[in-house]
Amino acid sequence: MKRRRRRRRLTFTAAAALCFLLLAAVKLSPLPARQHALLTADTAPVQTEQMVQAADTADGWALVLVNAQHGLPDDFSVELTLLSNGESVDTRMYPALQQMFDDMRVQGVYPTVNEGFRTREDQQAILDDKIAAYLAQGYSYDAARELALDYVAVPGTSEHELGLAVDVTADKTLCTNDTVYAWLAENAYRYGFVLRYPADKESVTGIAYEPWHYRYVGTQAAQTIHEQGLCLEEYLGTTA
Ligand SMILES: [Zn+2]
Repeated sequence: MKRRRRRRRLTFTAAAALCFLLLAAVKLSPLPARQHALLTADTAPVQTEQMVQAADTADGWALVLVNAQHGLPDDFSVELTLLSNGESVDTRMYPALQQMFDDMRVQGVYPTVNEGFRTREDQQAILDDKIAAYLAQGYSYDAARELALDYVAVPGTSEHELGLAVDVTADKTLCTNDTVYAWLAENAYRYGFVLRYPADKESVTGIAYEPWHYRYVGTQAAQTIHEQGLCLEEYLGTTA
């Protein structure tokens, strides 16, 4: 009898420990993902004097320019944090993203990361799919590729490959995309994020307006970019 009670108590203790472990596992999400070497200044594609100066600031790693003219280095690598929905982002900007999302939810706006980090292979697959869709509509390969490139960056030149860009859309069961986009346009800079492809900067960025695509640049740069109505190319002093 005594022994049985003791065993029951032990079973209870084991169950409690298991519950605690499960709760701890849930709380720990997002989990640190694939471990890569950190991006170093040596591997950052720094092209201009102003970019070098910008890279000297505390958030210099967040000011790397990636666009059609400035590709990622072949040996680029980044440490990622895996989000609970399976997307991942640069570990260094994750706390700012989490804080922004927490504050949005408190204010009744419900965002989700639709796309975060992409590998070069992911980017190639997205481009291939887009080209295939135009081919299916009867376009020649050259025409299909040209049309696809209006929407999809050439692999090696997408900000998503940096891990510093996120496509933020709504949890549609709770609010609309427009609600999310409006909140971000007004507030994201406070957390270090900027609207990367503004409607009035298409001629500079070479990319059509994307109200969902936000890029982490650090709070200092984001404030200047927001207040002066710049895009990242203009802020870094290069429109090449
Ligand atoms: Zn995007």
